[in-house]
Amino acid sequence: MLPSAVLEEAQEELLDFRGSGMSVMEISHRSALYQELAHDAESRLRRLLLIPDDYRVLFLQGGATGQFAAIPLNLAAAESTVAYVDSGIWAMKAIDEAKRFVSTVHVVASSRREGYLSVPQVPAEGAFRDARYLHYTANETIGGLEFQVPPETGAVPLIADMSSNLLTRVLDIPRYGLIYAGAQKNLGPAGVTVVIVREALLGEVPSRAPAILDYVRQSLEGSMLNTPATYPWYLLGKVLLWLESRGGVPEMERESLRKSDLLYSAIDGSGFYANSIRPDSRSRINVPFTLPTPALERRFLDEAAAQGLRNLEGHRSVGGLRASLYNAMPFEGVTALVRFMADFEARHG
Ligand SMILES: *Cc1c(COP(=O)(O)O)cnc(C)c1O
Repeated sequence: MLPSAVLEEAQEELLDFRGSGMSVMEISHRSALYQELAHDAESRLRRLLLIPDDYRVLFLQGGATGQFAAIPLNLAAAESTVAYVDSGIWAMKAIDEAKRFVSTVHVVASSRREGYLSVPQVPAEGAFRDARYLHYTANETIGGLEFQVPPETGAVPLIADMSSNLLTRVLDIPRYGLIYAGAQKNLGPAGVTVVIVREALLGEVPSRAPAILDYVRQSLEGSMLNTPATYPWYLLGKVLLWLESRGGVPEMERESLRKSDLLYSAIDGSGFYANSIRPDSRSRINVPFTLPTPALERRFLDEAAAQGLRNLEGHRSVGGLRASLYNAMPFEGVTALVRFMADFEARHG
């Protein structure tokens, strides 16, 4: 979901970007006009997240999935050991990809055996001290699990996939070696991937990454080693401006708590809807839930859609339902959903 104010603004300037007589999609990414836009987006992200100067911010392509490969290729040698936390589907995808590029991928914690009902307990640093980094998935978008605090990793650099929760909570950036996020869940449209990386991690091992995924090379070129995803980058900048005008990350954090509290209370307060994630591991952003039967779920989705409540299907790999409470989802959207849920339960429960 994107803020409608952002889409309207984009529509307004679609044919003529800042008096250029061209669409932003038609101007050169090397032009002063585009360079300024690109630079503004980076400065805004730095302000919003209080990113220190010794971190580089990259706007790449290839999605979070591209980063599953880019991380081991940039930060580990083929014979290195790397550590991963397995909290669900996205973590496993990162692990599987890392195995293609690094000989020892050590899964130091996993909640797989219990069916991913809680985030796994990460052991003390001693258990992975030889690893080049520890990777975890801050928010499992499909499973609906979220780490409420990042794992402690001591001197081992911490890497976080924040594809679905970046900019929804206040972060202490210096705790992280690298944070990445595909934009399409919470930051903008698909096509651009944000990478925030501590400079000191770069060049520790020779990079094996192809040029377009090479952090050092992309950083030296201002993320324009080749033509970037100009339109997504432009929209991302607008989303960041919108976010700033709404009170920034602290306000998004408060809102995400308000929204998810309301929805979880509705689920827990009914004998009809269910969410089986342990309360201390529940995601504030993606809330999966089930109804007593698949037939009722189908019916729920149809009736909800008829009332303008959309995108409530669970991921195709797990079924059920899922409400995603990204920053652009207003509190009123959740109120409408909760009201509909009560009404549906009254009629079918
Ligand atoms: C969606 C998602 C991904 C994959 O993102 P792509 O940009 O489609 O590659 C990875 N990790 C998490 C947590 C996600 O939500």
